[in-house]
Amino acid sequence: MDKLELIEVSPRDGLQNEPNIVSTEDKLALIDRIVGAGFRRLEAASFVNPKKVPQMADGDAVFAGLPKRDDVTFIALALNPRGVERALAAGVTEINYVFCASDGFSIRNNGGTVEETFAVWPEVAASAKAGGARLSATISTAFGCPFDGEVAVSRVAEVAEKCAAQDIFELALADTIGVAVPSDVRERLLAVKAAIPSRVQLRAHFHNTRNTALANAVTAVEEGVRVLDGSLGGIGGCPFAPGAAGNVPTEDLIYMFGRMGFDTGIDLDRAIETAKFIGSVLGKPTPGMVSRAPRWPSI
Ligand code: ZN
Repeated sequence: MDKLELIEVSPRDGLQNEPNIVSTEDKLALIDRIVGAGFRRLEAASFVNPKKVPQMADGDAVFAGLPKRDDVTFIALALNPRGVERALAAGVTEINYVFCASDGFSIRNNGGTVEETFAVWPEVAASAKAGGARLSATISTAFGCPFDGEVAVSRVAEVAEKCAAQDIFELALADTIGVAVPSDVRERLLAVKAAIPSRVQLRAHFHNTRNTALANAVTAVEEGVRVLDGSLGGIGGCPFAPGAAGNVPTEDLIYMFGRMGFDTGIDLDRAIETAKFIGSVLGKPTPGMVSRAPRWPSI
């Protein structure tokens, strides 16, 4: 069976926009369940300005409390050199560094224009390397920006090329506000593949704001992507992207790709239990579909 790696982002992208602060204890209980369901890479926390994203203020405590598992990679997200330093001090071994494809979002999310944020990129890559962490990059608003509107394909390819100028092993394209449709996914992946070296693996990150995330995920996989982000229960959003809704629900990805013959390595029943656990922690039903449907067999 063809392998498909699913990266669980609920502890970071999933929770970051929740208005009620989730305790460190509940975050660690969630991470335990995620690992128990079979995930081997997950986003555990971000190291960003706690005044701007209070939900992520306990990143150090989350990393200190993680299960000691050599076979699981816990990813930390960072937006600036200070975040990278904090992540390294917390013992992080994989850093996902975020750039934006549009200035409007970059100024609000990363504190500078796209051009300005790349000024520190060599320094960031050098400190990750010196600190023993492997480095990936994400391009936010790669399909559209809540402030600038449409983002040109050529712009995304240009930003991808700049990301790959440093030693990254993986590059993610993120549909931060959930505007992409499958033809956009195909077009942008082709352009990005042409712009970066083949040693950099591609990863895709979709939000389901307009109900297109599963279709986009299938298109990404058809185009050769073998690493997809998802958030159990379909929770998520972005504090700097008005109207952005949840990530693609991971359990829906597991069900769909499992029945399509892909090996995700994840136990669907335990993933569904984890989605329900998230609902109980947040005190509200989660938007994912598969966890609310009767169990259908054969994966
Ligand atoms: Zn996201």
